Amino acid sequence: MGTIRLIKGDITKERADAIVNAANSSLMGGGGVDGAIHRAGGPAILEECRTIRRECGECPSGQAVITTAGNLPALKVIHTVGPVWGRQTPDESDELLAACYRNSLALAASYGLKSVAFPNISTGVYHFPKERAAAVAIGAVRAFLAGQDEVEEVRFVCFDDENYQLYKMLLG
Ligand code: ADP
Repeated sequence: MGTIRLIKGDITKERADAIVNAANSSLMGGGGVDGAIHRAGGPAILEECRTIRRECGECPSGQAVITTAGNLPALKVIHTVGPVWGRQTPDESDELLAACYRNSLALAASYGLKSVAFPNISTGVYHFPKERAAAVAIGAVRAFLAGQDEVEEVRFVCFDDENYQLYKMLLG
């Protein structure tokens, strides 16, 4: 079991064992939350991403990898790649998005990380409908937490007010 917390703000400020980055398959950085994490965390994060790229190639949608958090207050950054809305069927997209949350949490658990903060994966430039994404995220996190006791706290960190209000409603 574990608890879920809802936060409105900037994930780069979170003091959590891990924060999750909504990366792209290249792992080479981008805009949105990805850009914010690399800017605030410094070059050490990109350096480890480059090593992962060299050794493992691109990161497919739904998968997750872990690096240092550089200068961030978090201990680790977990990079996961959300689905781009429209590239798969809606059901396949739901499954890929759920896999992002599940695989990020499984990776955190395998590193003994107790608190994990997530942004609203795929709801920016990847255009996943926000309410649908929130329902998938909450469902995947609840299912994961119910089946283990390694991860103790999951935070949903909403940057935009629309997501914050949706999560507030759905978490009830
Ligand atoms: P994606 O490509 O997965 O859609 P984006 O970074 O474009 O990724 O958007 C994902 C979510 O991250 C959006 O809901 C956006 O509001 C949010 N976001 C942007 N910057 C930050 C930040 N500094 N902290 C937390 N969330 C952020």
